[in-house]
Amino acid sequence: MSVRILQNKCVGCGRCLSVCPGNLLKKGEDGKVHIRNIRDCWGCTACLKECHTGAILYFLGADMGGMGSMLSVKEKGDVRVWRVDSPDGQTKTIEINMKDSNKY
Ligand code: SF4
Ligand code: SF4
Repeated sequence: MSVRILQNKCVGCGRCLSVCPGNLLKKGEDGKVHIRNIRDCWGCTACLKECHTGAILYFLGADMGGMGSMLSVKEKGDVRVWRVDSPDGQTKTIEINMKDSNKY
């Protein structure tokens, strides 16, 4: 598993649907987004970056140093807040102002 969608945080905006390169995400009759088959997801993180409510969690496995932590993103105005929740209960956040990023 690489991503998980928290139904209670999904607002059905559809932003994630248009960016999945495998067309793996679909909107259900409940208006929430679901993944068609989790085994088809290769963890590109495109949907994660588009979800500004923190509804999509990305699994950081031991093989990439994440030791089972979950990564999510929330938007606060121009700032994206990246949050890592570790299995031991610790939380780390990284804030990036989108106005300052990608200046090259
Ligand atoms: S981007 Fe997030 S909130 Fe919007 S539909 Fe997708 S999972 Fe739901
Ligand atoms: S991580 Fe990439 S492949 Fe997986 S559901 Fe999200 S956009 Fe699609």
